[in-house]
Amino acid sequence: ILKSKIAWTDFKLNSDGMIPVIVQDYKTDEVLMLAYMNEEAFQKTLSCGKMTYWSRSRNELWTKGDTSGHVQYVKELLLDCDNDTILAKVSQVGVACHTGNKTCFFQEIMKKEGQTANPLKVFEEVYKVIQDRKSNPKEGSYTNYLFDKGIDKILKKLGEEATEIVIAAKNPDAEEIKYEISDFLYHAMVLMVEKEISWEDITKELATR
Ligand code: AMP
Ligand code: ZN
Ligand code: ZN
Ligand code: ZN
Repeated sequence: ILKSKIAWTDFKLNSDGMIPVIVQDYKTDEVLMLAYMNEEAFQKTLSCGKMTYWSRSRNELWTKGDTSGHVQYVKELLLDCDNDTILAKVSQVGVACHTGNKTCFFQEIMKKEGQTANPLKVFEEVYKVIQDRKSNPKEGSYTNYLFDKGIDKILKKLGEEATEIVIAAKNPDAEEIKYEISDFLYHAMVLMVEKEISWEDITKELATR
């Protein structure tokens, strides 16, 4: 049984007597879905630890995952400034959306060109491109050239790039080092793909230190 610090009666409910719940993946911060709770759903969520809502279409209490197995284990519940919306951070089993998508929010309405919101995502993206090159070789691809030459070539390049970082760091031109670290990280990712090591393996290891 989980204990709530705020009583149901303190929530500002909508005209149907419910409160909307924004559901977020507690690890990645990805917004997964929006659903509604009545008091029974709120109490059930606390008593069983699994996100439980009121289904407005089926008119019944609904513990997410009951039929799909895609359960949401509640990790944290937050109330917004004016008490009318709950943010739930959950551990999502499988996917949140009944269409099979990870998140319900996959229909793009508009998107401004430009910067990626989370620059660290570039690591995952480049890694995926390298993986894709390995399974679907592309004409003229430098990545495929490295894979074809084999592990010794990858290691040789990685060593060279490491040395180039050291040289660039001694150089008064501050721009150089940026390129050399990028070269190094790319070649390290080629090695990771070759050795089947994921970014998750690396970040998990670093987190334990
Ligand atoms: P589940 O709770 O995942 O076993 O799904 C049971 C039913 O709830 C589905 O067949 C859908 O009708 C509905 N449902 C599940 N997930 C969602 C969602 N993210 N948004 C809206 N409806 C959903
Ligand atoms: Zn506010
Ligand atoms: Zn609000
Ligand atoms: Zn959905």
